[in-house]
Amino acid sequence: MARRENFSQKRVAILNALRGTTVHPTAEWVYTALQPQYPDLSLGTVYRNLKRFCAEGRAVSVGVINGQEHFDGTVVPHAHFVCTKCGAVLDVQKDFFGPEKLRQLSQHTGQRIESASVTFQGVCESCQKHELGETQAGIPAQ
Ligand SMILES: [Zn+2]
Ligand SMILES: [Zn+2]
Repeated sequence: MARRENFSQKRVAILNALRGTTVHPTAEWVYTALQPQYPDLSLGTVYRNLKRFCAEGRAVSVGVINGQEHFDGTVVPHAHFVCTKCGAVLDVQKDFFGPEKLRQLSQHTGQRIESASVTFQGVCESCQKHELGETQAGIPAQ
């Protein structure tokens, strides 16, 4: 019994950690975040639970980026942006693929479109600033 309670407590903690961040974390990120509180938690348990949340519709997988699967606690359809420089996964705050848009598209095509997953790629704001800084610093040095 105690074991079971302990297990569900961890499950809740994993889900809360996922929902409490906008970084679209990997299993390792969640594992590291929960380590101080749950020292006996294993990376495998975190990963299995994240996959289970996806299967249950409590979370979505953003896909594998730089060799690691990223997860999202926001299940409302939305587009993502992945930075090709630092690997940051950001939400695109635009209603490209909200339920209303999908309904319109369904009417338009006659297909019953139920979900969409779109990932834009490019360079994030902070990497752009970094690039700029590097160029400026590079000029006087040469
Ligand atoms: Zn970046
Ligand atoms: Zn997202």
